[in-house]
Amino acid sequence: MSICFIGSEIYRLPVFQPPHPLAVPRAMLAHDLCRALGWLADSQYIEATAATLAELARFHATDYLVALQTAEAQQSLPPDVSARTRIGKDANEIHPAVFRRPAISAGSALQAASLVAAGGAVYAPGAGNHHGMPDRANGFCFVNDIALAILRWRDLGIRRIAYLDLDAHHGDGVEAAFASDADILTISVHEAGRWPRTGTASVPANSIWNFPVPPGFNDTELRALMTSKVLPVLRNFAPDALIFLPGADALQDDPMSRLALSNNAIWEALAAVRGLAPRLAVLGGGGYNPFTLARCWAGIWAILNDIPVPEALPQAAQSVLRGAAYFRSAGRNPPPHWFEQLRDAPAEGAVRDEVKGFWA
Ligand SMILES: [Zn+2]
Repeated sequence: MSICFIGSEIYRLPVFQPPHPLAVPRAMLAHDLCRALGWLADSQYIEATAATLAELARFHATDYLVALQTAEAQQSLPPDVSARTRIGKDANEIHPAVFRRPAISAGSALQAASLVAAGGAVYAPGAGNHHGMPDRANGFCFVNDIALAILRWRDLGIRRIAYLDLDAHHGDGVEAAFASDADILTISVHEAGRWPRTGTASVPANSIWNFPVPPGFNDTELRALMTSKVLPVLRNFAPDALIFLPGADALQDDPMSRLALSNNAIWEALAAVRGLAPRLAVLGGGGYNPFTLARCWAGIWAILNDIPVPEALPQAAQSVLRGAAYFRSAGRNPPPHWFEQLRDAPAEGAVRDEVKGFWA
């Protein structure tokens, strides 16, 4: 079955400004890289349409959505509204597309859910705002497109839904949204002690599993955690549908976490779970090094389409990466593998006791 890639040209718009961590090309760069590699046919591509207010209101409070629209129209909010909604606070910056862009990400997630309602897999890397709360912005997330996709599946009669989040930060918004619903399984692997500092414990009775992992978390440790804990939990749950959130900030080259995975580990995790549910939606998530993110997320598209990853990137693909701007100091003297290869060097290592503790 052909797999669809849902993207949007809106991600070309540089909405955040340095030093905001999101002031880097992300989903669009992964999209351009897939195109340059010849991996993405026009027949597989869908340009996302914005979710409507009614669709967004399935999860979000109406007055919050109105505040988001007002923020875009006026590029500011009254102080009391900003204080309440956190729009324009906590680095949830008001930008020229602060309503439109999240609405399109949500649209892509909703389209993804609908597209595979009868079965199959779909990729929407612009979606994956796992921190969004019903009535407030949180962790650079204005709209929780993941919660909306889960609710879309629910509305289509799909009952048991699993969510696997490998982003370096705890998927707090998604967990909170479905904490009391044991038919929605949320699994989050994230760096212990990092913002938002939730996700410290599991509540198996409510289908909530959290794996706060130590700094330096490596490929061998993720493989062991998947094999010993995550895969058994998923198999036992027997989901009707699965959302996989790779993130790209648990990777060694990402500046926002101290986790040390290579992209091989994320790809291996996806390959391990893709057959565990008849419906699969792969979204994006965090990731703040554009080269690391784009290579990881292009590789995800390769996995989904059973395309072998090449040893060296062809010139056209290298040109796409070399054309991307990265404002951090690491961008001034970048290592060759950021441009020349898709695959990172494997980051194998010892499985430490803190990790073994999750199943021992
Ligand atoms: Zn993150």
